[in-house]
Amino acid sequence: MATDYDAPRKTDEEQSEESIEELKARRHDKNSGKVDEDEAEAAESFELPGADLSHEELAVEVKPKQEDEFTCMSCFLVHHRSQLADTKKMICRDCAA
Ligand SMILES: [Zn+2]
Repeated sequence: MATDYDAPRKTDEEQSEESIEELKARRHDKNSGKVDEDEAEAAESFELPGADLSHEELAVEVKPKQEDEFTCMSCFLVHHRSQLADTKKMICRDCAA
């Protein structure tokens, strides 16, 4: 219906209201096809904080736990190996003290 209505109307008003009608039509065309990507990209860049968080998480996940670090089995914090008080229990100095 909309396309049938637009087609003859476009040719009729092409010279007077060409810009508005054309813009509307083109916008709809683009929206149906590309808006998903565009909006997603725009949202990711500055609208949704979640996107930024995912970026940070990715950056962190690249190096989840260094080999010179360990997770204390008592407080479950990641400490440097130098803080490892008991290699069998895997507890940090704070917990061992
Ligand atoms: Zn601990």
